[in-house]
Amino acid sequence: MLEERSRAAFELSEEQRAIGALAAEIAAKEIAPHVAAWDRDHAFPRHLYTKLNAAGILGILVPEQYGGVGADYVAYALAIEELARVDAGAAVTVSVHSMICNAVLKLGNEEQRRRYLPRLASEDYLGAFALTEPEAGSDANALRSTARRSADGYVLNGRKQWCTNGSYSGVIMGMFRTSDRDRGAISAFLIENSTPGIVVERVTEKLGIHTSNTCDLAFDDVHVGRNALLGEEGQGFSGAMTALHGGRIGIAAQACGILAACLDASVKFAKERHAFGKPIGAFEGVSFKLAQMATDLDAARLLTYRAAALCSAGKPFLVEASKAKLFASTAARRHAAEAVQIHGGYGYTTEFPVERYYRDAKITEIYEGTSEIQQIIIGRDLLGRLDRDR
Ligand SMILES: Cc1cc2nc3c(=O)[nH]c(=O)nc-3n(C[C@H](O)[C@H](O)[C@H](O)COP(=O)(O)OP(=O)(O)OC[C@H]3O[C@@H](n4cnc5c(N)ncnc54)[C@H](O)[C@@H]3O)c2cc1C
Repeated sequence: MLEERSRAAFELSEEQRAIGALAAEIAAKEIAPHVAAWDRDHAFPRHLYTKLNAAGILGILVPEQYGGVGADYVAYALAIEELARVDAGAAVTVSVHSMICNAVLKLGNEEQRRRYLPRLASEDYLGAFALTEPEAGSDANALRSTARRSADGYVLNGRKQWCTNGSYSGVIMGMFRTSDRDRGAISAFLIENSTPGIVVERVTEKLGIHTSNTCDLAFDDVHVGRNALLGEEGQGFSGAMTALHGGRIGIAAQACGILAACLDASVKFAKERHAFGKPIGAFEGVSFKLAQMATDLDAARLLTYRAAALCSAGKPFLVEASKAKLFASTAARRHAAEAVQIHGGYGYTTEFPVERYYRDAKITEIYEGTSEIQQIIIGRDLLGRLDRDR
């Protein structure tokens, strides 16, 4: 069975190709001329998402009946990859937003779908995901923020850390503790960011992905109605995991995009830069690095598209998404360092974009489950110990 799945072949449909091409076109026109300055200034280009929204990129995964494009995860992965090839920060902004679209679609009731999906898909309204807390990252079940029942809903209190899109989001999917039990204690909520009591406490300064927004959010006596509950009370942990499994396809695609950018820049430089009377690409010490980079990019793409295709087909994809994220992120981090090496001293300067790729690549090994967490999932699957709720 595993063998069969790992040998699945890929042929992209017209629609998938068209969506990838559209994302590439927007990235080339709207992002590439500005990304170095945005990165230097740590600027979140809010207006870019108005344009991506108008082009349908923010609603790729949302069915047409709710105002979206209704495309599949392969098309989504292609779009994220093309954005990341130019700007990894834009890619994660869209990826986290799409994770919320998918969570509302999968876990929400009809009223929540009608309320949020058209806005997320076509009304310039970003989604954010708030699980991590200062004392709860990989061990998300240790989160302390609470949702206390009130007469007409819940009162939320706590601190959420490193929330992507947090400052600019319209709606936040937040996980809060509704009881003290060990299991079944966490519930997911859809919280409008404008609700009184939500404060952006700190915008995080980061090593890379400077064009994305990462912030800490304080929830102080935030009153929400019963209809804010996403899924059943006590099912928020598995809801968050459901969102993250799909999200990992987005991060794997982001890593593929960074890797593709490293390869593009390195091949160009290897042809243009001369040393000892030859282009440096003529030296095997350089061309072997390029060969390995290209091979790992192919492998990362195939793993990512496989996970995306399984997800779209409604088949199990949890382990495949972990493998894709693990492989693609490791390859992106490793080859971004090689891309800097190929560029020599120029690679270490901001004159060339590879220093940005190097800074951006690292995060793909950390968020939405570190590489160690992906290995735990893959290992448990091999040993027959995978608990799909954890
Ligand atoms: C830029 C950025 C954006 C983010 N965006 C979001 C977001 O939008 N929403 C959100 O909720 N969170 C977000 N996060 C949080 C991110 O998902 C966590 O940082 C990540 O899950 C790791 O958690 P942690 O940082 O607490 O590390 P820890 O869990 O403390 O881990 C520290 C180290 O210990 C290792 N480790 C932990 N447990 C084990 C184990 N059982 N076995 C082996 N090794 C282990 C880890 O792999 C890691 O190497 C973001 C983080 C960053 C930096």
